[in-house]
Amino acid sequence: MENEKIKIQNKVLIILGPPGSGKGTQAKMLAQKYQMRLFGTGDLMREGTRNNEPIALEMKKYWEKGELVPDELVNDFVKEKLEALSIEEVKNGLICDGCPRTLVQVDVQDKIFQKLGLGNSLAINLAVSDQSIVNRLKTRRICEKCKRIFLPPESLELKNCPDCGGKLITREDDNPEVVKHRLKVYREQTAPLIKYYRERGKLVEVDGELSIDNVFREIIKKLEMHSRKDRF
Ligand code: AMP
Repeated sequence: MENEKIKIQNKVLIILGPPGSGKGTQAKMLAQKYQMRLFGTGDLMREGTRNNEPIALEMKKYWEKGELVPDELVNDFVKEKLEALSIEEVKNGLICDGCPRTLVQVDVQDKIFQKLGLGNSLAINLAVSDQSIVNRLKTRRICEKCKRIFLPPESLELKNCPDCGGKLITREDDNPEVVKHRLKVYREQTAPLIKYYRERGKLVEVDGELSIDNVFREIIKKLEMHSRKDRF
């Protein structure tokens, strides 16, 4: 077990999946288990918007409509945020929740990862049907403060986060019309990354319809199998 952990160090884990597939939740759990640095572009953009960062405000024009932020803007943002991290913070590797999201981003961001001394990337795809996504996002709430994600029954019962007391809110882009558009954009622009990583033997595929704990168990099992084959 300790050996497996060592092999995952210094690497980049990329979490793929449609909106609402559980990327954020699983990324957080993986970051904790492997002591890897969590890097969520969506969270960073929302935080940047609240802090009135000019680049984040420019990005909001796209994400609030369910569009992907243009590659050039995202790549600049990712570069700026990654370069602000210390070597110490990324020494055990990085978990990317939400980037790269297009094939153009893969090329540019791979170079940024390498510059930071991070090795190979391995992608984890959480497969979830469109119908489940629509149902999940209708009732998803997030904690304004710590960003913990809540689904039913908790999201219907709680007003505040049991961890930090923060208010539970609906994400601006979780309204049904925007969700439908986000799914279309995902299928057209981000789903091709699944094939890209699969063809390179750098993909772990997981059934994202399972419970949170079972998805997590599957990911760990498959990651460790992959690591034993020494392909990661
Ligand atoms: P997320 O929180 O990961 O679902 O991201 C929320 C929104 O931010 C997405 O629907 C996109 O509009 C935008 N976004 C986040 N990451 C990226 C990225 N790597 N490329 C383009 N747009 C992004």
